[in-house]
Amino acid sequence: MKKKPEWGFKENQELHAAAAFTIRNILEAIMGNIDESRTGKTMIHLGHGDPSVYPCFRTTTIVQDALIESIRSAKFNCYPDGVGIDVARRAIAKYLSRDLPYLLSSDDVFLTVGANHAIEVLLTVLARPGANILFPKPNYPIYEARARFSELEVRHYDLLPDQGWDVDLDGVKALADENTVAIVLINPGNPCGNVFSSEHMKKIAETARELEIMVIADEVYAHQVYGPKPFIPMGVFGDIAPVVTLGSLSKRWIVPGCRFGWIALTDPAGILQQTGIGACLKSCLTISADPPTIIQGAIPSIIENTSKSFFLNINKLLKEAADLFYEALKEIPLVTCPYKPEGSMFAMVKLNISAFDDIVDDTDFCMKLTKEEAMILFPGDAVGLKNWVRVSIGTEKKVLEDAIARLKEFCIRHTKTN
Ligand SMILES: *Cc1c(COP(=O)(O)O)cnc(C)c1O
Repeated sequence: MKKKPEWGFKENQELHAAAAFTIRNILEAIMGNIDESRTGKTMIHLGHGDPSVYPCFRTTTIVQDALIESIRSAKFNCYPDGVGIDVARRAIAKYLSRDLPYLLSSDDVFLTVGANHAIEVLLTVLARPGANILFPKPNYPIYEARARFSELEVRHYDLLPDQGWDVDLDGVKALADENTVAIVLINPGNPCGNVFSSEHMKKIAETARELEIMVIADEVYAHQVYGPKPFIPMGVFGDIAPVVTLGSLSKRWIVPGCRFGWIALTDPAGILQQTGIGACLKSCLTISADPPTIIQGAIPSIIENTSKSFFLNINKLLKEAADLFYEALKEIPLVTCPYKPEGSMFAMVKLNISAFDDIVDDTDFCMKLTKEEAMILFPGDAVGLKNWVRVSIGTEKKVLEDAIARLKEFCIRHTKTN
């Protein structure tokens, strides 16, 4: 045996580089700045989309009952199948089919440890040397982190703020080439709070068809809409181009702690199965983590028994928050929100950075806001838009009012005087 000059294992810098993109890591850096005792203010966290801490956003007791029943039944202590237990897959297939012009079967559904895991699995399946993928700008950061850590070149198409954050379809066509595998869409949008119209989605599907790429439709905010446009799943256009839909319980049921999501092949023409993508998903999931069987066992009851009124109330709270935030922001100097959120739980706010006295960019803005006002926003640079910030509006009304007041004081205090 040849003696090694040093330990055989090494730190992998690539991992750190990929993790640096995640919301968790960026928030950790910002929160390092917090000093509640110095400001005398309790922390307000509008940096991520997790309203589960607020009593008004508490999940339905249906979820609790279903989980308890799943545990008590003792039927779900087993290892699950690699792609999930059939009753849970069937329940998700049925749930998604309600909004589609065709029926999904349990074979079209793969269960994952939340949608983040679904992203990991899908990007792993699609990666190969030379392949590229189209991401929106701005984007949900996990995509960037995951792609960076795989054999996928990332190309960004623009979402257009002055067109309601619609996709720049000409840009998409200009970016794609023979090595493009997919376009990612997030609808309702994170970070923009936008909702795509049916006409626009049809055009996106037609563009994907022309480019011969699949559409990855991240619909973790499915049905979380409160503006003029209804939520329409991208799978409705699955006969134009193959669509892979990602979903989750986290946002609609306000249970990110359940870590339960899915990948659905919403592809009535069967192109994804024919090209072997379905089989690859299965293989990838076989060597990957599973959502706990106990959670899977609760899914049929959660899906079937959650009342409409629970969802309606969540959307009502988000609509009130969007209205309040959008109107109040008009009264605050140096910040603008070009588009009132109509879905999900975020708003993108533009900073008039050159009119600030001593703030150099969005990250500096967030750092100082945290330090002076004990209030956390997410820097736009980290989602792909420099000198914007992302605000989570999924909070209690009085917290949002307090946040708006702090933001106003902060902006006034930092306005250039000459
Ligand atoms: C929150 C979120 C996810 C991840 O959801 P989990 O199911 O909790 O992993 C994925 N995509 C987008 C756009 C999100 O906002």
